[in-house]
Amino acid sequence: MKYAIFGDIHANLEGFQAILEDSQRQGCTDYVCVGDIVGYGANPRECLDIVRQMACPVVKGNHDEEAVLTTSLEGLNPLARQAMEWTRSQLPQEDRDFLKGLKLVRQVRDFTIVHATLDTPGSWTYVTNKFDAMASFSYQFTQLCFYGHTHTPRIYVKGDSVEPIEDSTVHLEMGRKYFINIGSAGQPRDGDWRVAYATYDVERQEVIIHRIEYDIQTAQDKIVAAGLPEMLAHRLSLGK
Ligand code: ZN
Repeated sequence: MKYAIFGDIHANLEGFQAILEDSQRQGCTDYVCVGDIVGYGANPRECLDIVRQMACPVVKGNHDEEAVLTTSLEGLNPLARQAMEWTRSQLPQEDRDFLKGLKLVRQVRDFTIVHATLDTPGSWTYVTNKFDAMASFSYQFTQLCFYGHTHTPRIYVKGDSVEPIEDSTVHLEMGRKYFINIGSAGQPRDGDWRVAYATYDVERQEVIIHRIEYDIQTAQDKIVAAGLPEMLAHRLSLGK
């Protein structure tokens, strides 16, 4: 049994498809999504169609939540706000119902999934250092948890202390816990333009974070053609 765990797709169909193709090459048998299917990119409905057809476990991201609200978008930065207004105009009722029905935290087999943090999952705060990770570990009741939201892959390990590791591969050991950011399938922000996802090989007890090249030009052209801010296309090249 081998899981592909992906999230922060942000309506980037080309990035998402590249990840799905790679996960098939890797022999993945099961799929899990840590949220933010929509927002920023030009293909929210297409990405939602794929995720819904996969019928895989999904948790809600802040953009998934924002996309189905009718409240003001003043809390968002201008780029996110413009993209969200456009995204809201694109989604049919059945997609809105699907997003509304998503939970914030789920347990899948022997691991947990959440979009932002385990300590305050609905507040959409960011895990950017080991102290933030420690707060989530306090609420982590499985050995392994996958999350997203920062668009930056990171593996935190809790033994006697909590530390991030630099490697993109980790072998799970008894007595330790793992809080793993799988990176973004649609808008990386760690300076690397390639999209990211993780595989979890249950038999081997091994998690690997993968980086995948994709048809970035097409994704960027679609953003501009949709009338979305050009910066949203440009930032994909920067990985920021
Ligand atoms: Zn996101």
